Amino acid sequence: MDPEPASPTAAVLVVGTELTSGLHSDTNGPEVARTLEDAGYDVRSVTALPDDADAITSFLTRALPRHRLIVVTGGLGPTHDDVTREAAARALGRTLTCDEGLLQSLGPAVARHGSAEAGARVLRQAEIIDGARILTPTLGTAPGQVLEHEHGTLALLPGPPHEMRPMLRMLLGDRSIHASPRILRTIGHPESDIQLLVEGALAGSSGIAFTILASAGLVDVILRDGGAGETALDTAAHAAAAELGDACYSTDGSTLAETIVRAAARRGLRLGTAESCTGGMVASALTDVSGSSAAFAGGVVAYADAVKSAILGVSSATLEAHGAVSAETAIAMAEGARTCLGADIAVATTGIAGPTGGSPAKPVGTVWFAIATPAETHAECRMLPGDRDGVRTRATVAALGLLLRALRTPAGSGDDA
Ligand code: ATP
Repeated sequence: MDPEPASPTAAVLVVGTELTSGLHSDTNGPEVARTLEDAGYDVRSVTALPDDADAITSFLTRALPRHRLIVVTGGLGPTHDDVTREAAARALGRTLTCDEGLLQSLGPAVARHGSAEAGARVLRQAEIIDGARILTPTLGTAPGQVLEHEHGTLALLPGPPHEMRPMLRMLLGDRSIHASPRILRTIGHPESDIQLLVEGALAGSSGIAFTILASAGLVDVILRDGGAGETALDTAAHAAAAELGDACYSTDGSTLAETIVRAAARRGLRLGTAESCTGGMVASALTDVSGSSAAFAGGVVAYADAVKSAILGVSSATLEAHGAVSAETAIAMAEGARTCLGADIAVATTGIAGPTGGSPAKPVGTVWFAIATPAETHAECRMLPGDRDGVRTRATVAALGLLLRALRTPAGSGDDA
């Protein structure tokens, strides 16, 4: 394994005072960075700067000798605060000239403007830095510019994401250096365990790097090609998946909910949910998946005890003897959901998401789950960390994990979930 493959480095700069002042969220930065990483670049920074020509020039002057590729988005439009062209020309020590072809193509945009002054501003977009390759806009009017210089490439792309995206694809069309990353998704193990298993599987491989991304009970392993090539990357992905065993639920980028829905649909099994503390989040995750109607029967959000009783048939004796957050209630909820929803497999959640409602016996974060299948009903308790959002998100993942496990058991007649 080569922990630091020598990938060419890249930097991303997003320009716009609306971004640095917090009025608008930067989505281009992460999107461009991810796309460049997927293409084999080692992205060293994502920077936001206001519409300030001096700041942009000084950033680019420092960055140009350091990176093989720099992608700038924003500030290419017609208004006075669109200063990226001028700033980049200064950093490169080149001049701006008007491109005749672009002037012609901007004619209709000029004609649409009421005043001559506004029309004239549109024509600023025809100004091209000497030596630039023009990226013709498929949407909008701002052209992109690609500049080769002694250290590498500088690309200027428009700010609106729907204009930027096709130009980024044009830019990278012939520049992808490596194979696309392979993603292995896992559940049920801490990231340190996953890391050790993947390290073991990749020992002896060279030109493969991996990153671990953990969130709320799920751990993704991203295997990147650092020069080894497609076949070696596939071999490494197979070896890592084999080492991860049952922890690995997806090798093709599918999410947990997608894996569950597809596995249930393949077997003709209907899923149902009975949710208290997750308030419908499990049903929402399942219905996020396109085609979920083939596998998802429905869900009951049973928050109040009265609803647990009236809809799911949880007896008042169970609620009184054990409380709403208990194995007995969770089991009755899951079995009730199977019956009232006509589901083959139903999962139930009932817990204390906080910040209030905890007690010494059942502190905040206590969540009982139950899974009811045609063969059996099983309950388990988890103590989940985090604030209200964190507990509910982790509980949702844990409930999905129980559905996955049920779909893998012989009772669910599964072998490939
Ligand atoms: P044009 O002015 O022709 O639309 P431009 O290149 O000048 O193109 P900007 O003026 O910088 O683009 O930005 C236009 C709009 O695009 C912004 O108001 C914002 O809605 C969106 N935008 C710009 N940069 C980003 C970014 N980094 N992330 C998300 N949205 C952005």
